[in-house]
Amino acid sequence: MQVLAKSTGKRIMGRLPKGSDLLEALTGICQEQGIHLGGVRAIGAVSRARIGYYDQAARVYNFLELKQDLEILALMGNVSLKDGKPFVHAHLTLGDAQGRAFGGHLAEGCEVFACEFELTEYLADEPLARGWDEPTGLMLWTRG
Ligand code: ZN
Repeated sequence: MQVLAKSTGKRIMGRLPKGSDLLEALTGICQEQGIHLGGVRAIGAVSRARIGYYDQAARVYNFLELKQDLEILALMGNVSLKDGKPFVHAHLTLGDAQGRAFGGHLAEGCEVFACEFELTEYLADEPLARGWDEPTGLMLWTRG
């Protein structure tokens, strides 16, 4: 399954406010800017984090809460439509004071200390949309 993006649209760089929720803030920018398809990446730091791991056998997300200051070593993800609204799906790697890394699926509950992001919009005739995927139990891209 693929969607052919004919060109890129807006390219946005910016900074998220201290104290904001990382996932909510990125989603909010996509909604404000009308970005329905695209890529996102970011670096920065959080004062606490909540990241998910999908248990493939149990078909549920388990969440790890990290109540400490962490660097956002890398956040990468994409934007598509879910229930008709822009939806950010991102994974991130976080680093602690000893240089150890933690990683997972970006969930609500990551408090921004500082964050610099880049968003690239892709323009296509038909944006990707998420729907239920029975084999995985996940909301995956279902058309394109
Ligand atoms: Zn994920």
